[in-house]
Amino acid sequence: MTVLVVGGGLSGLSTAMFMALHGAPPLLVERHPTTSLHPKARGQFPHVMEALRVAGVDEQVRSASTDGQFRITRAVSLNGPVLQEIMAESPDFSALSQAPWADVSQERMEPILADRARQLGADLRFGTELVSFEQHDRGVTAVIRNLETEEEETVEVDYMVAADGHRSPIRHALGIELIGRGVLGEGTGTLFEADLEQKQFLCYLLNPDLPGGAGVLVSTDVPGRYAVGVSNTDGPKDWVRIIRTATGIPDLEPKVLDLRHGSSQTRHGVAERFSDNRIFLVGDAARMMPPTGAFGGNTAIMDGFGIAWKLAMVTRGEAGPGLLASHDPERRPYSKILADQQFLLFTQRSRPDLANDPTLPEPVSPVSALFFGYRQLGGAVITEPGDPGDLLEDPERPTGRPGVRAPYVRLANGSTTDLLGRGFVLLTGNPAYQDTALPIEVHVIDEPEFFTRYGISPEGAALVRPDFVIAWRSVGAASPAELERAWRTVLDLRA
Ligand SMILES: Cc1cc2nc3c(=O)[nH]c(=O)nc-3n(C[C@H](O)[C@H](O)[C@H](O)COP(=O)(O)OP(=O)(O)OC[C@H]3O[C@@H](n4cnc5c(N)ncnc54)[C@H](O)[C@@H]3O)c2cc1C
Repeated sequence: MTVLVVGGGLSGLSTAMFMALHGAPPLLVERHPTTSLHPKARGQFPHVMEALRVAGVDEQVRSASTDGQFRITRAVSLNGPVLQEIMAESPDFSALSQAPWADVSQERMEPILADRARQLGADLRFGTELVSFEQHDRGVTAVIRNLETEEEETVEVDYMVAADGHRSPIRHALGIELIGRGVLGEGTGTLFEADLEQKQFLCYLLNPDLPGGAGVLVSTDVPGRYAVGVSNTDGPKDWVRIIRTATGIPDLEPKVLDLRHGSSQTRHGVAERFSDNRIFLVGDAARMMPPTGAFGGNTAIMDGFGIAWKLAMVTRGEAGPGLLASHDPERRPYSKILADQQFLLFTQRSRPDLANDPTLPEPVSPVSALFFGYRQLGGAVITEPGDPGDLLEDPERPTGRPGVRAPYVRLANGSTTDLLGRGFVLLTGNPAYQDTALPIEVHVIDEPEFFTRYGISPEGAALVRPDFVIAWRSVGAASPAELERAWRTVLDLRA
């Protein structure tokens, strides 16, 4: 076994699933006996659905998804008055992706990821925790414990992935700090069942009759089941009263479920580094952001998508270890942008008292840039001379520059996105590249829109990584040697 993934939430399970997909199934340990019993994060963005499609689970996710529109409001109670209509429908990204939005909670998503990871050969051990670890020159020695039998085992691995959530014992042990605005609030909540008129909604509550004066009420993907959360003020909670206040239905008789999610923290902070020698941070271990915006769960999955191919290629001997050094510079600046944007939404939706903070970031515009226009510029990409290094671009006007997600172009048979995900792919109008001896899939495309959106001539080419990021581009014709040099540089392979 060459990689140990610690944590079986969205980030750990997707790391394991995508690693297994790339032919390097890891060992994963999760201290809980099962996947999450709480709905927690819900909603999958189109770019996440594209990644899930690569693993062959998108159809399953779609069938598990609730249908219909998801309404987001800020209100005194679900029954009103509504203070702000935040979103009645998901933004239309159909010009940027053929993938749909989906609406599946963590409770249903995790088993889908776990089943697929197992099917592809990953060794998932629930009810097993990481007890201690030590890094050395050749790898990581980790002690894991089966919590049922109390048996301990020492495993030797090349690399370890810290997918161990917001408390991240691994991050603490490594002495890695979260940099940001810190703790913004403590919350507590419960699930309940009731017959409410509105079916799919997220309602940010501002109501002096709630503990702390604020809360959140959200539907789950189980019909008739809802989650309510309020500030974690002192004293026991009268959940029936809280639910009546939150729904605005004074005589509601909710069935409060014995599945509290305990206390949770709203926090803004990004780890000061995403790796420490042979250990890599993903998901909430790497960043904490207010849940406003739903990037937490989605980014946890995309962290797995982003690091899995690198770990797989390095451990399979197909890339040099330097490839892994790109994890921090590629994921950390993006995390900072996301955490700041979610903080901005948090001030607008839940904490208007912070809305005049002069240090608030500007909203990213267009918002599609956060999903499709981010550039990863960290070593596993060959930037072009004169590239100003901007981290976001408008995906409606793509440049095709290295570091950006490969722009979506509809083709006569499908789209460019259909061609990506399993390995390195060269998209080009030039059939001469088909003779390459490199392990790269070459697709010759003869569509003017493709050349425009990738910023290349018909003789040019774009080399796309398994995570859809353009690693290198040649605007005009390039020699086979130039392509090979680029490929070797990206993969940290000696000539
Ligand atoms: C109530 C609630 C509602 C939320 N709602 C949303 C939402 O609507 N949208 C959104 O985007 N995000 C939401 N989030 C945040 C979202 O759930 C997280 O961003 C996401 O789960 C992060 O996934 P993760 O895999 O990094 O961490 P987690 O899902 O926390 O998984 C980490 C796992 O590591 C395990 N672990 C820790 N230490 C060890 C150890 N030593 N050995 C073995 N296992 C260990 C833990 O048991 C845990 O299962 C919500 C969170 C909560 C709590």
